[in-house]
Amino acid sequence: MADGMGNLIGWEESGLVEGKRWITAKDDKVSDVCNANADMGVIGLHEPFAHGALTIPGHPNCRCAVVPVAKRMGKLSKGYNPKQPRDENGRWTGGEVVSVSGGELGEFAETKELRKAAMQYARDNFVGKSYVNESSGHEIIAAKSGVKHTIANSGDELLKTVPYIPELIQKSKLVKTEPDKNGDVNISNVEIYRATVGSNGKRKGVIMVVKHYKDGSRRYYDHGFERK
Ligand SMILES: [Zn+2]
Repeated sequence: MADGMGNLIGWEESGLVEGKRWITAKDDKVSDVCNANADMGVIGLHEPFAHGALTIPGHPNCRCAVVPVAKRMGKLSKGYNPKQPRDENGRWTGGEVVSVSGGELGEFAETKELRKAAMQYARDNFVGKSYVNESSGHEIIAAKSGVKHTIANSGDELLKTVPYIPELIQKSKLVKTEPDKNGDVNISNVEIYRATVGSNGKRKGVIMVVKHYKDGSRRYYDHGFERK
């Protein structure tokens, strides 16, 4: 089990986290007390959960996780933004920081199992829903085909970012628009977005690909870590 109190202190110090959420294993073995904690939704970092403490465990042998909820930092400006995050070399980076824990999916010894958990999480929480991208105002569907595509090609570290696809869609910055490489006649163009993902104090650039169809819809297609 993760170090609950250690995480809380780290989140507080990061200044990027405004709340926390209790995540259960979502099966019929989860205790009433843990389900009650999960039912509270997002609460403040200093607020106790229903069982009376700030974080996990809910009881001995608790399998739950507590995950951070990132601060919303408002709309991105089109041009210069003094608050725009920098990478480890001090360069401006596009997109806001999306804080990732990975605890949503549970712990798995095999990537195959983590893939399954990631797909189930996506199905239960956001597949097929639309989210508005803050930098472009574009409405983007978290398309099942895209999520499947990402999961099929991901290693463990990227799989842990799957629960954050809705946040990536909302907070990434549109960096360029290009023609579809496969020349698909149904696609007007392909949009490339960038975000910064923070996990355990490390920051990584993430590139997200969205396909803009001739019927006007935009569909999430893929995301991956930026290559250096
Ligand atoms: Zn529990």
